[in-house]
Amino acid sequence: MKKQALTKLSFIFALLSLAFILNACSQKKETTGTSDDRKYIIATDTTFAPFEFEDTNGEFVGIDMDLLNAIAEDQGFTFEIKPLGFNAAVQALESNQVDGVIAGMSITDERKEKFDFSDAYFDSGVVMAVSEKEKNISSYADLKGKNVAIKTGTEGATFANSIKDKYGFTTTTFDDSSNMYEEVKSGNAVATFEDYPVIAYGINQGNGLKLATEKEAGGQYGFAVNQGENEALIKMFNEGLQHLKDSGQYQEIVDKYLATPESKASETGFIGLIKENYKKLLDGLGKTLLITLVSILLAAIIGILFGLLSVAPNRGLKVIATLYVDLMRGLPLIVLAFFIYFGIPSLTGIRLSATIAGITTLSLNAGAYIAEIVRGGINAVDNGQLEAARSLGLPYGKAMQKVILPQAIRMMIPSFINQFVITLKDTSILSVIGLVELTQTGKIIIARNLQSFDMWLIIGLIYIIVITILTKISKQLERRIQNG
Ligand code: GLN
Repeated sequence: MKKQALTKLSFIFALLSLAFILNACSQKKETTGTSDDRKYIIATDTTFAPFEFEDTNGEFVGIDMDLLNAIAEDQGFTFEIKPLGFNAAVQALESNQVDGVIAGMSITDERKEKFDFSDAYFDSGVVMAVSEKEKNISSYADLKGKNVAIKTGTEGATFANSIKDKYGFTTTTFDDSSNMYEEVKSGNAVATFEDYPVIAYGINQGNGLKLATEKEAGGQYGFAVNQGENEALIKMFNEGLQHLKDSGQYQEIVDKYLATPESKASETGFIGLIKENYKKLLDGLGKTLLITLVSILLAAIIGILFGLLSVAPNRGLKVIATLYVDLMRGLPLIVLAFFIYFGIPSLTGIRLSATIAGITTLSLNAGAYIAEIVRGGINAVDNGQLEAARSLGLPYGKAMQKVILPQAIRMMIPSFINQFVITLKDTSILSVIGLVELTQTGKIIIARNLQSFDMWLIIGLIYIIVITILTKISKQLERRIQNG
């Protein structure tokens, strides 16, 4: 029974990993190839309406998206959009993870040192907004001693930071615009600095804010690629943009979003939100589960290997295992994820998909904890048993395999299950590299409907339900193995 269950489990794991590796290989092919058949990877923000946002049908739309689609059609190239969030998109471009960024990105002198921009396609400019109930803040001077919400890496944040000492306010930083608005509405911050067309559109849609100042001059949007790379893409973008302007299609796209703001309201309430979003949520959950399963399998292999090294009768091997475990335990998961996704590609030029980077991060991290579980399990078996087995003439390897490991494994199972649950929850951290798993799915939906309480409640419940079910199944399996 025990053997059968284990074989079945390993078979499922093997199949899953194979599917993943094949999938990863096919993704790789899409991003390479000659310039003609090449598919460009373009990063964008998670939400920056009316430039990029998810509509009520769950489709990613906006001025940037429509422009890029029309330009690609005009110029005959293909592309794939990655909604990473603004700061992550710019970092992904810097590290060559993507070919370009279109995200209401302002053309600034500082950015021009690193990136090549297309011709400007939209006029913007930073403006200050406050809660619509706010009566006392109508100039920068009113911000003295107050807190202001800004968005990482944006022109609005740069502007706020440049005047914060002069006017004596503090800043709190967020990754997306919707969280920034929530901060102002909840009263934790009194104001926010955001691009004029975006905040004006949001106010029109009833986001609960109002403008407090005139907009600052400057800030035109452009499409960006890394300096000196993808010149052909910029050229196509500029040519296409000109064609769209000449034909009037550019104006049509802009009017579509600015003249007639989206009218279909989102569903509200717990049940309404589930009805409207269950497909997206299931997709996100599927990705979460797949990533967890593949990562935990790889982590088990890494963990068993390093766990065995750490109890080996050889100092050198022990040191290697200790180094690995210490390194992984000392690194916060989010730092490891950033290092693998942004750091390694900028050093080596090898492009990793967010999925592969995510799996690598989780496997390396969980691998270290499993190594400790394995070491603990083996050490928990009475030392006398190894000596007894060896004195009966069994070599070290055989004694381990026949006498120590079967007992150790039984002791390890509860900790394994625990690690499995931890790894599943840790997948949520991968949303920072734009992986659209369950948490990132939630972020994108909230960015559209601004219903954070109900949505986070739904997401939290999904995690709890799934983890409870999986723990029950694992416990059952454990019982079978123990009794087997
Ligand atoms: N236009 C701003 C910038 O480039 C903000 C862009 C965004 O948040 N998507 O910094």
